[in-house]
Amino acid sequence: MLHWRCMESRTDGEVRDDTRFFGHPRGLATLFFTEMWERFSYYGMRAILILYMVAPVSTGGLGFSVAKGGAVYGFYTAMVYLLGLPGGWVADRITGQQKAVLYGGVLISAGEFCLAAPGMAMFYLGLVFLMMGTGLLKPNVSTIVGQLYPANDVRRDSGFSIFYMGINVGALISPLICGYIGERVNWRMGFGVAGIGMLAGLIQYMLSGKYLGKAGLHPTSTGDPAEDRRQKRHGLLAGLGALAALATVVTLSQAGIVAITAETISDALGWFLLVISAAVFAWLILGRGWSPVERKRAVATLVIFMASAIFWGAYEQAGSSLNLFAERNTNRMLLGWEFPASWFQFVQPVFVIALAPVFAWLWIALRRKEPSIPTKFSFGLLLGGLAFVILIPAAGGKLVSPWWLTGTYFLQTLGELCLSPVGLSAMTKLAPARVGGFMMGVWFLSVSIGDWAAGKAASFYESMPLTQLFGTVAGLSLAAVVLLALMIRPTVRWMAGVK
Ligand code: GLN
Repeated sequence: MLHWRCMESRTDGEVRDDTRFFGHPRGLATLFFTEMWERFSYYGMRAILILYMVAPVSTGGLGFSVAKGGAVYGFYTAMVYLLGLPGGWVADRITGQQKAVLYGGVLISAGEFCLAAPGMAMFYLGLVFLMMGTGLLKPNVSTIVGQLYPANDVRRDSGFSIFYMGINVGALISPLICGYIGERVNWRMGFGVAGIGMLAGLIQYMLSGKYLGKAGLHPTSTGDPAEDRRQKRHGLLAGLGALAALATVVTLSQAGIVAITAETISDALGWFLLVISAAVFAWLILGRGWSPVERKRAVATLVIFMASAIFWGAYEQAGSSLNLFAERNTNRMLLGWEFPASWFQFVQPVFVIALAPVFAWLWIALRRKEPSIPTKFSFGLLLGGLAFVILIPAAGGKLVSPWWLTGTYFLQTLGELCLSPVGLSAMTKLAPARVGGFMMGVWFLSVSIGDWAAGKAASFYESMPLTQLFGTVAGLSLAAVVLLALMIRPTVRWMAGVK
């Protein structure tokens, strides 16, 4: 762990003048490859997770019903993003971002290797490690990207674009490798390869961590040591409380006092997400200490938050119901060979990589006519809804052409590019400066709700006709578009000058 000490000797100035990675600080390369491997691991695992859970035991799967598989998938993916909130807090107050990323990477590799090991206990333990590890790594690696640049460095936005490419390069390669190995060789070996990917990222991170300089090296202080101690105490109590609640639930269920199934736990998480979102916005809108402008902006943030949750609810079905659709209802013959269903997971990131520069150009080209944030969100939701509309006729068929899903993913990606980067930057602009990091967690809370809903949708895969399932998703998304379109004007007003 030598470099964690060496790094401190690098001055901020040295990092600022550094243009070794495509004109960006060398530290960006460290983070690019760390996140690339982390996403390799995440999306490789996600590409086969639901397929593995519902595959019959005779084929090496877990033999879950789709209802249970969807519930576990929704719970797990929702928790991955939800734990970004405490993950960000731990880095801010206790470890600093650099160490949080390191510990997160270790937990993720351990989690994937647990999934690769036999036995149900190892499966669930693996998922818990993965949730905690991703919660520590994902938000904090992005925070360090921001910290690589001095306050007014014009390279920051393009740095984030390069970083987003890293995400998608990882997401693009891994379904091909882990998906093929998982589906065609051995499910658990697929998770093992995902773990090796994270390990590669971790080794790379440790070897090149010195290039990060002081970015994310230390936890931040509130400026008052007594307040710092108080916050740490509260954090520790909250952590212990969560562990105690978990232990109680496990004990009650083991003792047969309460019947706990994957479905009930997942449903409970749905309610929890609702309560926590209501509490967050009640605080942001009605709490003490906000200025009138901050309150108004919080209302605008709530509109964006709801649209985002609905969008991700449809989009994240790529790993759940649409993955099942690829496996069960799509013709995957290519030159006489049937390619694995998980290979479809390759399509979204390819479109992101191809289209991200087009969108970057588009917004610049439109200049003064550039649509407002809620207008872009309406387009995002509309495209996300249309992506499911085109699946309705396809859902009636037995084994449909792969172009249907490809078309769906194309429209979804167009929607993503209208909404995702816009949303991330909107959160930073609408947030009161003193809760900037927290507001990033609020964005991931909306992603978490979306992932939970995407799992829920998959659990209806067998109990509901597909035309009805996809029609409902399309209908909800399009209804949300109408509501959002009506809200554009007031939302722009509530944004109080934020463009
Ligand atoms: N594909 C992006 C990532 O993995 C965005 C995912 C999301 O925010 N739902 O980071």
